[in-house]
Amino acid sequence: MTTFKALVATKGESGTNLAFTDFAEADLMEGDVTVRVTHSTVNYKDGLAVTGKAPVVRRWPMIPGIDFAGRVESSSHPGFKPGDLVVLNGWGTGETHLGAYAQKSRVKGDWLVPLPAGLNPDQAMAIGTAGFTAMLCVLALEKHGLKPADGPVVVTGAAGGVGSVAIALLAKAGWHVIASTGRAEEGDYLKSLGAAEIIDRNELSGPGRPLGKERWIAGVDAVGSHTLANLLSMTRYGGAIAACGLAQGMDLPASVAPFILRGVSLLGVDSVMCPKPRRLEAWARLAADLDRDKLAVITTTIPLESVIETGKAIVEGKVRGRVVVEIG
Ligand code: NDP
Repeated sequence: MTTFKALVATKGESGTNLAFTDFAEADLMEGDVTVRVTHSTVNYKDGLAVTGKAPVVRRWPMIPGIDFAGRVESSSHPGFKPGDLVVLNGWGTGETHLGAYAQKSRVKGDWLVPLPAGLNPDQAMAIGTAGFTAMLCVLALEKHGLKPADGPVVVTGAAGGVGSVAIALLAKAGWHVIASTGRAEEGDYLKSLGAAEIIDRNELSGPGRPLGKERWIAGVDAVGSHTLANLLSMTRYGGAIAACGLAQGMDLPASVAPFILRGVSLLGVDSVMCPKPRRLEAWARLAADLDRDKLAVITTTIPLESVIETGKAIVEGKVRGRVVVEIG
């Protein structure tokens, strides 16, 4: 029987149980491509999955891990052959389909993206779901017609994964980036990524007014709740906020005033079911636009054995930037 190393989550009476086990290849789920996973990451959603803090996992037992990079081992999909380097994020991997914290994964070839030219597998996972989502947010703002000359852009959850990559991308594109963080000690880090101004997230996290002073034309929000409501209320006429996260909360205690009095738009961003053409566009833009030195500054690397403790740390807001997991 062929087995491989995997982190397996099972549902116990008192919550999620996690164990590193030898997993039988025969027990992998259906799919037309088997990948030798080399790298994964720890995203906020992975933290929720391994801690059991939110119902991310919807099939038991589960191998958590929502994204990976690796090399195709076998394939009956016309688009992929053994040896191809690939990237996967989303599509329910680590939620409803056995995921990335394992040496092997069997998935639908339609979910895979060829490793973008110019990125190696660990760089692709340094970007990972969070960085990919940051790019989707930038694309959403651009498609709305916004550009650096229109005014500043605000990024919330700045020292986290989505926030760090968003700052690097927006600064490179010429935006004046206002970074909102709860970690004042990360000021130098955020400036090194290209933030022009840093604000305390407490300025945005409490209940606000329907309309506030106009401060920015655009925003990338990884936080939700009062923070997103305040972002909208302080957006200049005709601006837009791309919303992708819920680190503060899933609620949105806002009023319609910014929409109907300032023509502000709220742009929803989802990475999980993102259609393939937009995935290819986002990965190509990441490969072309993301400064590799900044990506290196953003990234910490850990072995597979450390994903449980890092998962706990990320939901406590203690992880800076992005974490790459070497599967080994
Ligand atoms: P991280 O944990 O790396 O970043 C989140 C950041 O939010 C933290 O670093 C912290 O930044 C800030 N934060 C944490 N708690 C709070 C709080 N209570 N109030 C205000 N700010 C807080 O996570 P990711 O970057 O991986 O993900 C960010 C969010 O985006 C998550 O909610 C995640 O679920 C979501 N997401 C959504 C995707 C989609 O498809 N829509 C895809 C990927 C992520 P600081 O210390 O700088 O204040």
